[in-house]
Amino acid sequence: MSGAATLLRDVFGFDGFRPGQQEIVEAVTAGENVLAIMPTGGGKSLCFQMPALLREGVTVVISPLIALMRDQVRALQELGVGAGALTSGNTPEETDAVWEGLEAGTLKLLYMAPERLAAGSVIGMLKRVGVSMIAVDEAHCVSQWGHDFRPDYLRIGELRRALNVPLAAFTATADAETQVEIVQKLFDGAGPRAFLRGFDRPNIHLAFAAKNSPRAQILNFAAGRKGQSGIVYCGTRAKTEGLAKALRDEGHVALHYHGGMEAEDRRIAERRFQQEDGLIVVATVAFGMGIDKPDIRWVAHADLPKSIEAYYQEIGRAGRDGSPAETLTLFGSDDIRLRRSQIDEGIAPPERRTADHGRLNALLGLAEALECRRKTLLGYFDETEISCGRCDLCDTPADVFDGTTAVRKALSAMLRTDEWFGSGHLIDILLGNETDKIRERGHTSLPTYGVGTEYDKRQWQAVFRQMMGHDLVRPDAERHGALRMTDAALPILRGEAQISLRRDSIRAAGATRRPAVKMLVSEEDAPLLSALKAKRRGLAEAAKVPAYIIFNDRTLIEMAEKRPDSLDAMARVGGVGAKKLESYGRAFLDVINGASQEMHPTRRKLAGREAGTVYDRLLEVQAELARGAAGTDKPLSCSASLLAKVAQLRNADDTALERLLGDKRAERFGPAFLDVLREAG
Ligand code: ADP
Repeated sequence: MSGAATLLRDVFGFDGFRPGQQEIVEAVTAGENVLAIMPTGGGKSLCFQMPALLREGVTVVISPLIALMRDQVRALQELGVGAGALTSGNTPEETDAVWEGLEAGTLKLLYMAPERLAAGSVIGMLKRVGVSMIAVDEAHCVSQWGHDFRPDYLRIGELRRALNVPLAAFTATADAETQVEIVQKLFDGAGPRAFLRGFDRPNIHLAFAAKNSPRAQILNFAAGRKGQSGIVYCGTRAKTEGLAKALRDEGHVALHYHGGMEAEDRRIAERRFQQEDGLIVVATVAFGMGIDKPDIRWVAHADLPKSIEAYYQEIGRAGRDGSPAETLTLFGSDDIRLRRSQIDEGIAPPERRTADHGRLNALLGLAEALECRRKTLLGYFDETEISCGRCDLCDTPADVFDGTTAVRKALSAMLRTDEWFGSGHLIDILLGNETDKIRERGHTSLPTYGVGTEYDKRQWQAVFRQMMGHDLVRPDAERHGALRMTDAALPILRGEAQISLRRDSIRAAGATRRPAVKMLVSEEDAPLLSALKAKRRGLAEAAKVPAYIIFNDRTLIEMAEKRPDSLDAMARVGGVGAKKLESYGRAFLDVINGASQEMHPTRRKLAGREAGTVYDRLLEVQAELARGAAGTDKPLSCSASLLAKVAQLRNADDTALERLLGDKRAERFGPAFLDVLREAG
């Protein structure tokens, strides 16, 4: 496999395989039938692209979305790989170029939409051009029960039989039923070699917060990540528009997106998101399929998703390039109520509804988790050996208390009022608030009236929310959302089980201090990273391709940190393959070298001289004293030319400095400058 290692380095520009890739590449290259299940961002494309280069002949890639196909083809062409697509979106020139490549034998990867297989002539054509392998991306589209079903995927089996070549199928959908269907439909039931990669996405940080002032929570989260591409998922269309505007008002570049928009407007938003750097899309879940941007740095949920699977899929859009990415999911009692009623009022048959409640419960269990989120999340997908350290509960362990008594009091208040009330009224009973409603109903005489004064209203709200999260109580749509007890609460009510609750989740959410903007690199490297990104943007716009096709974030970060000073050094940066080195190496090298020489012209005149070093020290001292020794005075500074004069002063003393600087500046900086000059001798 040394050929593979060389290809990985020279063509794809990667230092090594991601977990699982190598075995798959080996099996596919060897011509085995393969089914590979890897999480989004795991690096599936490489697992068929590389074998395609290692094998004789052409590999046909079936993929469901034209836009994604075009992006992959463009990315491959940038790497110097012969790739083309036959889709309905092609210009005649593009189609001609594909045919020429096929005739000349230079095309190694031919992407095709499944619809193309419907044309009778296609199979004959593929036979003629020497297709030696079929790769199927998003293979779960063959599943009739899944929501991504594409009828034309059912033709792939026929294609495989007709061509009699190996087939490699890839998907991120794990469930067993889908796998069985894929094996039946694509491989005629003859078991392919299966690879199942773990579902952990270690670079994604997980965090949940109880809703407090949700809009401020989202704005804060975004403020800490300004200039980074992100998605905010909202529960309603109206909210996407409001929140996008609020983000724009705070200086972000933000768009809204939902299923009610004109198809054309949606396409524009998708395109902009894909191409631009640092754009935020505020969307409903309609935004997703068709998004293949590897450098999404964060995903926030302004409302609770509908199930744990939906949550996993939505946060999974972040950080596909493997660089750190962050997520935040907000949730509150209203979300739980809404999601429950959507299930109850849906048209699904009863057993389906029970399953949906279960999937929502799993998500709520994650939201109210007391320890590591990742363990809880992956535990749901039957994965155990997890090490985390990248979730809010690993960062700051939950503050847990024994909530058994509180829960029993709350249940008692519910049961004594015959489960006809919502949490607001129940909390009034527990706190002994004599409201009109309490008086009218005679609830002051209940034994539970006023028994909960050890907590305030907020804390009781958190208790009720957690009770809903643990599915001890559920709102009943037929009783206008009144809370009813579930069987799960019985052991607690009877004193047979205890329950731990989180104390701090509300308080933590309340701490809405603006976070400092999170940097992708150290402060020192940040200006260079911006300069590299600006160069990338310019090149991407000129070539009309998404920025990451030039270089992804991770590559730019490595450049900013390692600062290669030659093309040789540049070639050792991850993500810089031979073709990209040739196309862009020089341009980025110039940015890096330019950055290290970027100095004030006045300072440049002192370069290489003693006075240059003195100048730099003066600049530092001046920065420290810019607002006086105590840091509270009016800002003051000296111009570059003035500093240059100071740096070149001979036999400096107080008077000389005062003459040069004037009273005010001499008072602020004089003594410190003098120290610098004396140190320099
Ligand atoms: P998937 O289709 O599994 O979601 P992709 O094939 O799109 O994932 O890969 C996700 C990202 O990971 C891409 O930006 C790709 O360039 C990058 N990638 C893939 N393999 C490697 C590797 N071995 N080393 C570094 N980056 C990789």
